[in-house]
Amino acid sequence: MTYPNTQLFINGQWQDAADGRTFPVFNPATGQEIGRVAQASKADLDLALAAAQKGFETWRDMAPAERAKIMRKAATLIRERAGEIAPLITQEQGKPLAEAKGETLAAADLIDWFADEGLRVYGRLVPSRGKPELRQMVVKDPVGPVAAFTPWNFPINQVVRKVGPALAAGCSMLVKAAEETPAGPAAFIKAFADAGIPPGVLGLVYGNPAEVSGYLIPHPVIRKVTFTGSTPVGKQLAALAGQHMKRVTMELGGHAPVIVCEDADVALAVKTAGAAKFRNAGQVCISPTRFLVHESVKDEFAQGLAKYAQGLKVGDGLAEGTQMGPLANPRRVAAMAEIHEDAVKKGATVLAGGKRIGDAGNFWEPTVLVDVPLEAKVFNDEPFGPVAGIRSFQKLEEAIAEANRLSYGLAGYAFTKSLKNADLLTRRVEVGMLWINMPAMPSAEMPFGGIKESGYGSEGGPESLEAYLNTRSVAIMNA
Ligand code: NAD
Repeated sequence: MTYPNTQLFINGQWQDAADGRTFPVFNPATGQEIGRVAQASKADLDLALAAAQKGFETWRDMAPAERAKIMRKAATLIRERAGEIAPLITQEQGKPLAEAKGETLAAADLIDWFADEGLRVYGRLVPSRGKPELRQMVVKDPVGPVAAFTPWNFPINQVVRKVGPALAAGCSMLVKAAEETPAGPAAFIKAFADAGIPPGVLGLVYGNPAEVSGYLIPHPVIRKVTFTGSTPVGKQLAALAGQHMKRVTMELGGHAPVIVCEDADVALAVKTAGAAKFRNAGQVCISPTRFLVHESVKDEFAQGLAKYAQGLKVGDGLAEGTQMGPLANPRRVAAMAEIHEDAVKKGATVLAGGKRIGDAGNFWEPTVLVDVPLEAKVFNDEPFGPVAGIRSFQKLEEAIAEANRLSYGLAGYAFTKSLKNADLLTRRVEVGMLWINMPAMPSAEMPFGGIKESGYGSEGGPESLEAYLNTRSVAIMNA
C-alpha cells in the first residue's frame, strides 16, 4: 500500500518547505516510517499568510452561490476518492479502513451542508424609532483569514468542521493539521484545489506546533483562531489569542459520563456504549469514559461490556475484519499503561484487557475496569484510549453530581426508560452534547462543542457559521 510524502499547500501550489526540512510519518500498526511531511519555516508561513489575505479578498467578494458550487464540487471529488483517501488515514492514524472511509464520506456530507448553509447568511432590516426614511440594517460579514489547528485523531473530520463553516461564511483559512497524520488532510485540501478554489483561500501547513501557533495567532493578517486538541494546549492558545483580541473557537478534551439508570435497557446500553467506547480505540473527544451504573444493574452491565471488549478483533486497520486498530502514537500506549497501573493500585478490578498487545505497533487491549475509585487517574484525566471505568450509584442525583464533578463538559450519555429521569438529566448534566438511549450522533445540522473547560463555540449547526461572521450595525438616513 503506497503512502505519499506530504508537501505544504501555499497560494494554490504544492511545495516543499523553503529550507527543505521534513518530519517522519509512522504507521502506528507497525511502528515503521512510511513517509515524510514538509516542516514550514517562518518564510513559508509569511508566504501562506500573504496568500490567505489575498485569498480572503477574492472569496469574500464571490457570490455565496458561486462559493457553494466550488464547495459542492470538492465534496463530490472527496466522495469519488474515498476509496483512495481512506487507506491513507488508516496507514497514518491506525483506525480500521471502514471507519476511515466513513470519516471521508461524512466529510463530503458536511461540506454539502455547509455549502447550503452559506446561502442563508442573512442580515436584518430593523424598524427605526424615528422617521421611516431611517433604514437600520444588521450586516453579517466574514471575519477574515482564519488560522486553524487540528489534531490527529480524525485527520479529515477535524479539518472539515473548520473549513466547512469558514468557507461558507466567506473566510479564507490557513490550516495547520497534525504532523502525525498529514496525508489525509492533504487529500482533503486537494479536492478543493481540484474543484477550482482560488489561490490562497485554503492553505495547508505543517511544522513545529508551538512555533507555528506562536507565529500565526498574533499575526495581524489572522482575524480568528480555531483549535481542536487538549484542554491544556487550548488554554495556552486561547490566552495568546486573547492578548491579541482574536476571535476564538476551542473544541477541547472531554471525560464523558455514561449514566445507566435502574430502568435502562441494559443490553442496549452495553451495545451502544461499547461501540462508542472502542471506536477509534477510544481516541475520540466524545468517547464515553466514566460509566456510572445503578447498583441493581452494575454486574450485568459490567459483565456485558467486558464480554463486548473481549470479542473485539484488534489488529492492523488495513486487515479484513479489524474492529479496533492501534493507538495513534507511542505516547498513548505509555498513557494507557500509566492509568491502568494507577487504577489497579488504587483498588479497581480488571474485567477485560489491561495489557499492551505484542511489541510492534501501538496496540492496547480493549480494557474494562470496575469499582474504580474516584481518585484514580482514569476517573479524572481524559483517558483518550480504549479503557472503560465503571462505578455504581444508588440515586440518580449522585450520578449527576459525579458527572458534573470534573471541569470537562463535552459529551454525556444516559440510558433510561423514564421520562422523569430523562428530563432531570437534560436539565442537570453539564455537557455541550447529551445523547439519551442512543449513540452519539453529531450531524452537520446540530451544534457540536463543549462547555466548561471543554471549550467554547460550536462546530455544527448555524452557530458554526456565526463563529466566522462579524455582526455590524449600519444605519442610512435617506436625506
Ligand atoms: P497534545 O496536547 O500535545 O496535542 C494535542 C494536539 O494539539 C496535537 O494535534 C498537537 O499537534 C497540537 N498542539 C500541541 N501543542 C500545540 C501548540 N502549542 N500549538 C498548536 N497546536 C499544538 O497531546 P497529544 O499527545 O497529541 O494528544 C493527547 C491529548 O490531546 C489527549 O489526551 C486529548 O486530551 C487531546 N486530544 C483531543 C482531541 C479532540 O478531539 N478534542 C484530539 C486529539 C487530542
